[in-house]
Amino acid sequence: APTLLWLRRDLRLTDHPALCAAVARGGPVIPVFVRDELVDGLGTAPAWRLGLGLEVLARALEGVGSRLILRSGDALAVLQGLIAETGARAVMWSRCYDPAYMERDAAVKKTLKEQGVAAQSYSGQLLFEPQTVETKTGGFYRVYTPFWNAVRGRSVPVPLAAPMHVPGPQVWPSSEALSDWRLGAGMRRGVDVVRPHLLLGEAAAQKRLAEFVDGPIAQYKARRDFPAEAATSGLSEPLALGEISPAQVWHAGWRAMQEGAAGAETFLKEVVWREFAYHLAYHTPHMLTRNWRQEWDAFPWQTDPEHPHVIAWKQGRTGIRFVDAAMREMYVTGRMHNRARMIVGSYLTKHLLTDWRIGQAWFADCLTDWDPAANAMGWQWVAGSGPDAAPYFRVFNPVTQLEKFDPKGAYTRRWLAEGQTNPPQTALDWFRAVPLSWGLTAQDRYPAPIVSAEDGRKRALHAYENRGF
Ligand code: FAD
Repeated sequence: APTLLWLRRDLRLTDHPALCAAVARGGPVIPVFVRDELVDGLGTAPAWRLGLGLEVLARALEGVGSRLILRSGDALAVLQGLIAETGARAVMWSRCYDPAYMERDAAVKKTLKEQGVAAQSYSGQLLFEPQTVETKTGGFYRVYTPFWNAVRGRSVPVPLAAPMHVPGPQVWPSSEALSDWRLGAGMRRGVDVVRPHLLLGEAAAQKRLAEFVDGPIAQYKARRDFPAEAATSGLSEPLALGEISPAQVWHAGWRAMQEGAAGAETFLKEVVWREFAYHLAYHTPHMLTRNWRQEWDAFPWQTDPEHPHVIAWKQGRTGIRFVDAAMREMYVTGRMHNRARMIVGSYLTKHLLTDWRIGQAWFADCLTDWDPAANAMGWQWVAGSGPDAAPYFRVFNPVTQLEKFDPKGAYTRRWLAEGQTNPPQTALDWFRAVPLSWGLTAQDRYPAPIVSAEDGRKRALHAYENRGF
């Protein structure tokens, strides 16, 4: 009898335990992706990026004699419908660990099992199952370093090869057309501007990983904080959709470390930050939507998403060069350098005293590497409301940070056209990317700061002290 392989954030053929298990059952395998309410809830750029990822995956599956069946609707109902149509007796999938998925998947598994269908979930999205990492007293970790110490020595299973052939059924169930789904339809800037910046599909991710461990990883520790440099792996985008597995990344980094690459351990530590994000999301699901530390509920954040300061922040027009360069980088490339994420986050939540969830939502709409756990953890970290957060009095100064991490102005020149006689294409692309309704042109004057680095810092510290922090 056929096995349904329910794909979600595991859009790859190598190191795919659920796919290997489905093939090992011996019968036909029917890969299916369901456009359910969780997919419909995605922000614009993540939805658009998902559509492109599905297109690449469908071709890869064809290469091993299979197909990708697309259906929309409630996931359980779709799976049950396919079971009835095809006579499948088993459904397999890779586990996802954010609360919305876990709740839904548990319900799906229970119902399918009650109906006598073998429903089996597999690892593959994480290196370490969140529930297997425990403190000595059986609790979970709230702080990163002990978490790292708990996992660093663990062995990570060697990545699995892709099946040479994925047997299909005699008659394939019908599939909806990907183009009809119009995923990320609002992404007007996508094709012209963002597309060339993507790292799309499994093959591209593998190639990038190989190049990264061959070269930049050695300098990773020293260079990773300089936003103008290509010093980091850029793998967050394929990791977010599972186009590459964390075990593949881990093993490549580990090998580089054994071979003496100086920056490799720091890189592995960063990969484990992603694990830590899911560890926290698993144990404290409210991290995704509410202040992790409840005492922050009383803090008088600015909560209007249409506030002129928020608009200026989103539009890369705050007059603070580091912030604006970074916001434009995200709008044009779908990604933003990690240091820049911290700077724009700090500016929004501290200088502009704005609720971190407004930033979280904008990132979730613009990032092609959007990840629910990493995004929430990152925002709560900068806001100071998270578990292992920056202390409230640590207000990044976006001016001195720029002097330190972009000393030659390469990053700001790349993204801010105003005032340059010959702005680079990247900076001009931003003007092509933004909606007409923003009313911006490359001839505009660069704005004066809406809140200066110093005033913002004073305001933030004052606000915190007033709340007794
Ligand atoms: P590298 O430096 O090459 O690191 C390798 C991998 O480690 C990354 O691909 C990523 O999977 C993981 N990693 C590195 N740093 C972190 C971190 N701080 N938290 C979690 N995982 C990490 N990352 C996302 O993947 N998606 C998001 O939506 C996201 N939102 C963020 C929001 C804020 C406010 C902040 C401060 C950080 C956010 N991050 C997010 C984390 C980090 O900025 C990105 O993972 C990183 O910039 C990706 O670039 P890279 O792949 O070149 O990373």
